[in-house]
Amino acid sequence: MRSIVIKSGLVAFVSAVASLILAAVVLKTQGMAFDRSALMISTLCPLLIAWPASARGFLQHHRIEVAHEEVARSRDELARAHAELAEAHAQLAERASRDAMTGLLNRENFLKAVEATSARRGSGVLLIIDADHFKSINDTHGHAAGDAALVEIARAIKCKAGAESISGRIGGEEFAVYLPAFDTSAAFSTAEAIRREVAATRMAAPGGSTLEVSVSIGGAELCNDVTVAQALRIADHRLYKAKRAGRDRIVLPEPQVSSAA
Ligand code: GH3
Ligand code: MG
Ligand code: MG
Repeated sequence: MRSIVIKSGLVAFVSAVASLILAAVVLKTQGMAFDRSALMISTLCPLLIAWPASARGFLQHHRIEVAHEEVARSRDELARAHAELAEAHAQLAERASRDAMTGLLNRENFLKAVEATSARRGSGVLLIIDADHFKSINDTHGHAAGDAALVEIARAIKCKAGAESISGRIGGEEFAVYLPAFDTSAAFSTAEAIRREVAATRMAAPGGSTLEVSVSIGGAELCNDVTVAQALRIADHRLYKAKRAGRDRIVLPEPQVSSAA
């Protein structure tokens, strides 16, 4: 506010000086005297008119500047809110795509990810991993201990499946892993590492007992001629072969067959 008074005062002063000079020149060319009245009129008029008028102009200019700053601040805040919203949306979408208990992809998003990756990377191997005798684990140790065992199976999968793999929980006690660009013998090594890791896991169960769990694994190749649904069916069929053969084992396309023995 002080700067507006000073700036408009300066404008009024310059106007008064200009008015004085102009009046003196005009009166002189007319051959008239530059008397006291002329001095007062040529000084007071610009002071009384230019000061408030320019003060009003400076004040409006100042208000416009303040409004501009507020708009810029609001725009920045809006951009920040947009970025936060986009981040929250991405986090929510990521969380919604995963199984809350194990952190692995849920069935729908696992299948989507496999479709996309196999289309991009060509052939690979799909594994279905099913916990053995899980109903009796729940019956013996309780549902909470069963949940903990599922978390341990998921941990073993994350630990052994490799960075390029895609892992999901596709059913209650059923998991799946897609190994892009793997052949069956490389996939067998990974499946065996997962099977061994699960078999070696010991968990404390209620009542001081120890909970052990094993998995059976069936696999199928996924290539251009085989859809994900077909590969899942073939892997499922091999999984049941592994179950029938005694569980805690892997069945992949012949000739690889592993047994716990
Ligand atoms: P198999 O070796 O033939 O696979 O036998 P299984 O008992 O594992 O198979 P079955 O299909 O008979 O039973 C699966 C069990 O898994 C029954 C179900 O209560 C349990 N289950 C499924 N989802 C969950 C879960 O989220 N938590 C717990 N604790 N148990 C689950
Ligand atoms: Mg089972
Ligand atoms: Mg099952």
